[in-house]
Amino acid sequence: MNSLKTASLSLIDQINNAEKPFLIAGPCSAENRKQVLETADQLFQLGKVDMFRAGVWKPRTRPGNFEGIGIPALDWLIEVKEKYNLPVCTEVANAQHVEACLKAGVDVLWVGARTTVNPFFVQEIANALKGVDIPVLIKNPIHAEMGLWIGAIERFQSVGITQIGAIIRGCHSFESAPYRNQPRWEMAIELKRSFPDIPIICDPSHIAGNRALIPEVCGVAMDLDLDGLMVEAHVDPDNALSDAKQQLKPSELDELLSNLVVHASDCADSSFQNKLGDLRNRIDDVDQELLKILNQRFDLIKEIGNYKRDNKVSIFQLKRYYDLLEGRVDVGEEMGLNKKMIQELFELIHKYSVMVQTKIKY
Ligand code: PEP
Ligand code: MN
Repeated sequence: MNSLKTASLSLIDQINNAEKPFLIAGPCSAENRKQVLETADQLFQLGKVDMFRAGVWKPRTRPGNFEGIGIPALDWLIEVKEKYNLPVCTEVANAQHVEACLKAGVDVLWVGARTTVNPFFVQEIANALKGVDIPVLIKNPIHAEMGLWIGAIERFQSVGITQIGAIIRGCHSFESAPYRNQPRWEMAIELKRSFPDIPIICDPSHIAGNRALIPEVCGVAMDLDLDGLMVEAHVDPDNALSDAKQQLKPSELDELLSNLVVHASDCADSSFQNKLGDLRNRIDDVDQELLKILNQRFDLIKEIGNYKRDNKVSIFQLKRYYDLLEGRVDVGEEMGLNKKMIQELFELIHKYSVMVQTKIKY
């Protein structure tokens, strides 16, 4: 953290080289000059913040809520930048926002979750950045479609933006859950596979939606070796004009960071490596057995398929499907396995079993 002293490095190099986590903090929205400057001052005093954030244009799901101050708030961000020598970032959702930010001297732009879903707007923002090498952080789309996230990155790359980072902020779900958004950590892992050099920052505030749950989300982000955190912080969270439930006081952020366990990406110690190697060999053996057993299951599936066909019986029998799922979930739970995992696993196995019996290609 606090790695910004090396101004000659590109932002992405700084994030990749920073002591983890690279920390972006600041209020959800810039509400007034006093709130922005007091929040920045308290955050700066922590000595742990690498970049200041504040939303200037707020994409609200429903109309009638505080929609941000707009262009006048950019001056407050620039005051923070100059006073504390901290880079500042804000969200852009169209070409006019980009133009205003470039004119004001904002250091880094981010694309919000409600914009990443819309290729027209992403392209408009990218076009407005042609010939400008400003870092852009791209949030995952609000629904879990990897193609939109990857597509947004490609749109910025294709106009010549070289400094790109990603932010995982979870995805909307219709189901009620403790978190405001489903984290969908697998999307971060998938993104890392496609773009190994693009750093991934976790936004625990929008994932959790509730300040009490933010530390545990940060913990998972560190366990997954993500590169940074973007945390919403406000001098007076309870009276914030947007996202009041999920903003932390700077002192609460300080406490969170002091308790955060950050693991090393790897460990070169030979006895650690040997023991890990042994355990991984055992996993390889177990996986081999799993595959053999799965293959035996599919041999039986084919035999049953032929038998049903010879006896003119339909392939899919709903009652058998429900009994099977319920039985497997019960046994799995008794063994201490995750209920949802067993449910999804057997739904998948059953789907492919039906496909084999109907000889649908897969
Ligand atoms: C924000 O960061 O304040 C914001 C609006 O984020 P998101 O696009 O993730 O909802
Ligand atoms: Mn917010």
